[in-house]
Amino acid sequence: MNFSESDVSAIVKQVVAKLNLSDGDFGSKGIFDDMNEAIAAAKEAQQIVRRMSLDAREKVIANIRKKTIENAEILARMGVEETGMGNVGHKILKHKLTAEMTPGTEDLTTTAWSGDKGLTLVEMGPFGVIGAITPCTNPSETIICNTIGMFAAGNTVVFNPHPAAIKTSNYAVNMINEASLEAGGPANICCSLKKPTLESSAIMMKHKDIPLLVATGGPGVVTAVLSSGKRGIGAGAGNPPALVDETADIRKAAEDIVNGCTFDNNLPCIAEKEIVAVDEIADELMKYMVEEQGCYLASKEIQDKLVATVLTPKGLNRKCVGRSAKALLAMVGVDVPDSIRCITFFGEKEHPLIAEELMMPILGIVRAKDFDDAVEKAVWLEHGNRHSAHIHSKNVDRITEYAKAIDTAILVKNGPSYSALGFGGEGYCTFTIASRTGEGLTAAHTFTKSRRCVMVESLCIR
Ligand code: NAD
Repeated sequence: MNFSESDVSAIVKQVVAKLNLSDGDFGSKGIFDDMNEAIAAAKEAQQIVRRMSLDAREKVIANIRKKTIENAEILARMGVEETGMGNVGHKILKHKLTAEMTPGTEDLTTTAWSGDKGLTLVEMGPFGVIGAITPCTNPSETIICNTIGMFAAGNTVVFNPHPAAIKTSNYAVNMINEASLEAGGPANICCSLKKPTLESSAIMMKHKDIPLLVATGGPGVVTAVLSSGKRGIGAGAGNPPALVDETADIRKAAEDIVNGCTFDNNLPCIAEKEIVAVDEIADELMKYMVEEQGCYLASKEIQDKLVATVLTPKGLNRKCVGRSAKALLAMVGVDVPDSIRCITFFGEKEHPLIAEELMMPILGIVRAKDFDDAVEKAVWLEHGNRHSAHIHSKNVDRITEYAKAIDTAILVKNGPSYSALGFGGEGYCTFTIASRTGEGLTAAHTFTKSRRCVMVESLCIR
């Protein structure tokens, strides 16, 4: 489907007017005033979902996929307009990826033992109602992806979305419930609030009908969920380094790294946040980045201005997160053509634009004297998040050594970071990477509990 810029703006305005999004009064499916009401509605829906056949669940999921593709452009534009972050074209791709590559019921498997003593199965059963907290960086992508996986496994879900992305998040919640009703499923397979707050999130974390919490966001929310006393899945912050050694195809490494770093203006938690390059090839890498990949080489003066602009005493300046390189440079008085898509410079690993997870297209290069030094620096920069790391090298032994040292949920070799989400790489898509708690890339199987079903002395027919 091709829309012009003005068509899309007109559609978004119509949709916003229809949903009365401006005052937060959505009147939409699955959206409640009160967290207790939302949980009660999701509980009622789960009583129906748990009895639905896998085939019936798949019909609902197929309709969610269809509607996500139909609404990809609207959701992408709403996300950018509401949060001021990201890139519409890239967000359209992210929604299509979510629709097409998030696993459904096929992700649920059974383990069986059969023998003289009978047949034992271990099945993946639902938890019930899951409480989920979602970020403003990938708001609707996370809600759609979480719901497909959680619902496929027989759960329903209550979201406490990021307040800065509430319109986009609740548009997705309404769309999912419409998809369910149209395909013969119940309403309220996912629920949300008109005005989510830290208090509503606290109610959710303590509620007796929520057995599992899933947090996608920064360190604060993951710690809160893990302190709740309930089972928690924590998809936390990263600061992924891209290591480049002298055996790599340097020109391709420059292209892959800048493509990954600039995707959706660096919002994905898996995106390259800094480079560690072996000294021998560092200048060559920089040359390709600047001459062929649209990188702006920032002087010391511009770096200092950027530090003062993007970082505040309280942390990240949210007005800079997810902004384009051109917009960031304009904030420090530099006018560049649209072809500039990333800002780069050489710096020490402690440089604030390198050590911090910025979520904007600023990509400092740290020089390392050799491969071992590069590994040490990259491990330091990852800060023990165990989230994502990337490497460009043709030496398998070195790749293995790096993988063991950095110990992350994701390690992309010789490609852009988004290959890890199934975009140009093998494997499924998710926007909740459980780095802190170790489940890794979440999917339907993650949202299940193990149930053993034992038949004694029968049903072994060998
Ligand atoms: P954020 O931490 O500001 O917010 C995430 C969510 O947590 C929001 O809904 C927010 O309202 C809520 N929240 C924050 N503190 C809370 C607390 N103490 N108690 C309860 N709820 C709380 O993050 P963000 O800016 O929306 O997203 C960016 C961050 O999330 C980055 O650090 C990024 O790396 C991380 N992230 C991780 C993943 C992953 O899969 N691991 C995915 C996306 C984003």
